[in-house]
Amino acid sequence: MNDNLKNRLLGRGPLDRGCEAGMAVVDQYVEAVLRGDDAARLFPAIVAHMDGCAACREDIEGLIEALRNIRPPDDRV
Ligand SMILES: [Zn+2]
Repeated sequence: MNDNLKNRLLGRGPLDRGCEAGMAVVDQYVEAVLRGDDAARLFPAIVAHMDGCAACREDIEGLIEALRNIRPPDDRV
C-alpha cells in the first residue's frame, strides 16, 4: 500500500479517521456550517481530515456551496 492510498484510507493524524469516517458525519458537519455553528469545534475530526485530503475538502466545500444556493440563510420556513 503506498503512502498516498494509506493516508486516504486511514487519515494522517490522531483526529483524522480517513475518508469513510469523515463522510459518515459530513451531513451533520454541513448542517452545522449552514446554521452558522462553530463547525470546526463540533467536528474537529472532519476538519482535520479536510486539511489532509483535498478530495474530501473539495467535495464538502462544494456541498456547502450547493446547499447555500438552494437554501439561503434568510430562508423562511
Ligand atoms: Zn478524504
